[in-house]
Amino acid sequence: MLTEERMRVSNAVDHLHESNSGSLEDETEEETYDNHLADSATATLNREIDYTLEENSEHVLSSIDEALLRIENGTYGICVRCGSPIAEERLEAIPYATRCIDCQRLAERG
Ligand SMILES: [Zn+2]
Repeated sequence: MLTEERMRVSNAVDHLHESNSGSLEDETEEETYDNHLADSATATLNREIDYTLEENSEHVLSSIDEALLRIENGTYGICVRCGSPIAEERLEAIPYATRCIDCQRLAERG
């Protein structure tokens, strides 16, 4: 279980680097037909998310270190603010998330 979570976190780091090594054209060159427009839009959106992550990569890396510590401590997947379990889907998307979605929204709102 711990190994699995650790793998998930380190895979997130790898993905972060790999996803920015190719160009957007490489991903979308075969998606030139109109009926693939939605797929291209999704690729563009994913790219934007990756760029945002890359801009914050220093923050992300420290978050990942934190996540690894939390795995050691057995507090991984627990919201640091309210103590509730973080949703599984959220951890799938953001393995190093430290807050549940509700607390994250509160934090982003300021
Ligand atoms: Zn919370």
